[in-house]
Amino acid sequence: MRPVRLLALAPRPFEDELLSCWHWRVSSHYSCSPRQVENWISGGSVGPNPHLFRHDVSADQPATRLWALACRLRQVDLERLSLQNTGRSGASFVSDPAHRGVCPTCLDEDAEEGRDHYCRRSWACVEAVACPRQDWPRD
Ligand SMILES: [Zn+2]
Repeated sequence: MRPVRLLALAPRPFEDELLSCWHWRVSSHYSCSPRQVENWISGGSVGPNPHLFRHDVSADQPATRLWALACRLRQVDLERLSLQNTGRSGASFVSDPAHRGVCPTCLDEDAEEGRDHYCRRSWACVEAVACPRQDWPRD
């Protein structure tokens, strides 16, 4: 049995965080990509050509288990970050992070409260054009 490879620095996921965002936050502590981290914790068993969005749409259970073990988290808490639990199809999410909306107000709030910036799961929805937390002026 191979010993579990541990990631000593692994920020805890936020309640409404997108799984791929958490992967990037963990990886940033090691100056590498989630792909490189996953390759290291799996002992190099990750297949070629991974797509980062794949974990968001359907949590890859073996990979999620490895991330959970390496970061000393419960697997179920990481699976909760994926979009598969929303009951929506993959087509109802924006797969390219560069095309997703972000809310600068929420990001500013993250900084003001002394936490990492992070991407909310709701921002990946195709219909997300405005932050539901914003209080828009009414006529
Ligand atoms: Zn917002």
